[in-house]
Amino acid sequence: MDHGVDLDRVSDLKRREDARFVDKHPRSLALRERARTTMPLGVPLSWMAFLYDHPPLFVDAAEGAHFTDVDGHRYLDMSLGITVASTGHTAEPVVRAVSERMARGIQFHLPTEDAVIVSEELVRRWGLPKWQYQLSSTQANTDAIHLARLQTGRERIVVFEGKYQGHLAELLAVRDERKTVPEYLGVTGHDIARTTVVAWNDLDGVADALASGDVALLITEPALTNSGIVFPSDGFHAELRRLTREHGTLLAIDETQTLSMAFGGLVREWGLEADLVILGKSLGGGVPVAALGMTEEVSALIDREYATYEVSGEEVDEPAIGGTLFGSALSMAAARAALLEVWTEETQHQMQQLARALADGMERVIRSHGREWDAYQLGNRAGYRFAPTPPRNNQEAGAYDLPSVRHFQRVFMANRGIWDFGWWGGPAISAQTTSEDVDAYIGVFAEFIEELLA
Ligand code: PMP
Repeated sequence: MDHGVDLDRVSDLKRREDARFVDKHPRSLALRERARTTMPLGVPLSWMAFLYDHPPLFVDAAEGAHFTDVDGHRYLDMSLGITVASTGHTAEPVVRAVSERMARGIQFHLPTEDAVIVSEELVRRWGLPKWQYQLSSTQANTDAIHLARLQTGRERIVVFEGKYQGHLAELLAVRDERKTVPEYLGVTGHDIARTTVVAWNDLDGVADALASGDVALLITEPALTNSGIVFPSDGFHAELRRLTREHGTLLAIDETQTLSMAFGGLVREWGLEADLVILGKSLGGGVPVAALGMTEEVSALIDREYATYEVSGEEVDEPAIGGTLFGSALSMAAARAALLEVWTEETQHQMQQLARALADGMERVIRSHGREWDAYQLGNRAGYRFAPTPPRNNQEAGAYDLPSVRHFQRVFMANRGIWDFGWWGGPAISAQTTSEDVDAYIGVFAEFIEELLA
């Protein structure tokens, strides 16, 4: 596809911006050099370096929708730690609740009243009657798979191409032609032998995969959020629900990223029906907590004090779920404050409005340069792609995209005080982002497009 962008020029401009970035961050770079002696890539998690095409910044502090790096530069944060900080950094109710909880103890391996209040609230918003807690969505998805296997007596899992559902080997599979192959190094063919990957929006592919009769669980997001944002086609979710029921497969909806898009996530906004719902990231205002919602049928697998199951001839009375740090008083205090005091209907509506204004502003800029590129909004997110029509799946999303332009955009905007999202998400609005912040983003975005298309 000819995008009408001079990519040679983009690489010259990128070099100029990279040099500027390096000049502006002597302290971050010095810390990174020091860090490389004790951490691979000089970061505590390799993604913090892999995700960027420039050296990672070392952060000093944050407040609301902004953070400051160790060189004293202040950024409008439109990435929000890949949406984990969607309540805004240092959300006052969360800081208060967590500080109070810390002072009264946080780890007992016993419940606190906050867990009851959080669960009642999740029932009200997400509709599923029973909940269990974890520290990350990877772990919530892991527990969902175990419960689905137990419930159905089947083993296979179906996921969609272009998904990211966490760092569990069975979920780290991609399609190569007609074969399923490991997505990352260290994952083996054995790990993914019971995983089927289907193209997003491909209902025939789903029907074929489920027809084998051995699928325990189909895991999906409401919209793909890790391949740009790819929307479901009309009727996609209703048909997924119908097909999974017809074939006796459980349906898990992973709202890890979409929970901050609407009150009760897109499950409530779009009226989706799931057997299992996965929440994570921003649920606790940045404090690690994830949640797994389930039907009464699935809950009954856990809620049987005297029941026993037989595994390899041994009697075992509990499903394989859990972890010693899960459901802690700290996680529950944070989730209670975030849910009741930040994730209100009013705030989420306001975030959607700001994201709409952001998408409209991006579209105006793009049109003023005579381009028909599609600008979109979903919940608290916005974005654009280098094609007039939205992609139907991640193959199309990838084919439309210009990674070198995205890398140039990121460093260009960072040099002008905007910490942008990666292309796979599009800028995110937090509960503390203001319309002035949106204007600031659009202003720098306009400078970027001007430079790109000059
Ligand atoms: N599901 C989705 C949709 C995600 O985007 C992610 C993380 N990006 C995960 C699950 C895994 O979350 P975590 O890294 O917190 O385990």
